Amino acid sequence: MQIRVLGCSGGIGGDARTTSFLVDQDILIDAGTGVGDLTTTELEGIDHVFLTHAHLDHTGSLPLLVDSVGPSRDRPVTVHAQPDTLDVLRKHIFNWQIWPDFSEIPDTKNPFLTFSAMSPGAGVTLGDRYIQSIPVNHTVPAVAYLVSGENGSFAFSGDTTVTETLWDVLNQCADLRYLVVETTFLDIERELSELSRHLCPSLLAGELKKLTVNPEIFITHLMPGCEQQIMQEIYQHIGSTRPLPLKRGHVFKL
Ligand SMILES: [Zn+2]
Ligand SMILES: [Zn+2]
Repeated sequence: MQIRVLGCSGGIGGDARTTSFLVDQDILIDAGTGVGDLTTTELEGIDHVFLTHAHLDHTGSLPLLVDSVGPSRDRPVTVHAQPDTLDVLRKHIFNWQIWPDFSEIPDTKNPFLTFSAMSPGAGVTLGDRYIQSIPVNHTVPAVAYLVSGENGSFAFSGDTTVTETLWDVLNQCADLRYLVVETTFLDIERELSELSRHLCPSLLAGELKKLTVNPEIFITHLMPGCEQQIMQEIYQHIGSTRPLPLKRGHVFKL
């Protein structure tokens, strides 16, 4: 299994792309602006999209993806997310006003897009990969994902502030090799972090103390322009030059 980082920034501008990971050739985790860098052939190979939550920086490329590849594919793209997230997509994006409802195009029997509800905590097996959702704590219903293959597991927090279940589940994962966890703001913005339910370095340090397994850790969703300063604050709290900031184009092999 390999996981390629298509986007991992908290915003856009210059080289920054918002959140998306390509698992092997056929699975996306989140569909932020990084998806737009894929070739047409790569886009056509995506069969499944797992969404952490409905926010645009994690879903914005989904409507364009479906429109771009639908006519050249012989089966729908399946969007997996918790029912609350799918409701928001149906009501506010695929509603014939912002975008056509591609779950009815060209017809309901053979559409470009299908929705597959996945309760927080549920999992889906696709070939030799198992993708488990884990509820987290954000301003809208949100999950983390734990992706497991034959050679270990990869976890992505999605957007979250202080949370408990995520760490409980990860601590049960004996083969956890990589953890990608968000840190959006600086410590001076701790109040904003709590209000918008993200993490800042001091909150992250508290969260990492809950972890009893020992994966390689990467930081994602850094606010553009503040990346280095946020990482410096993390290093001060943790007392080492780990974890590393996640970079677009990084490939996890496991
Ligand atoms: Zn969010
Ligand atoms: Zn986000």
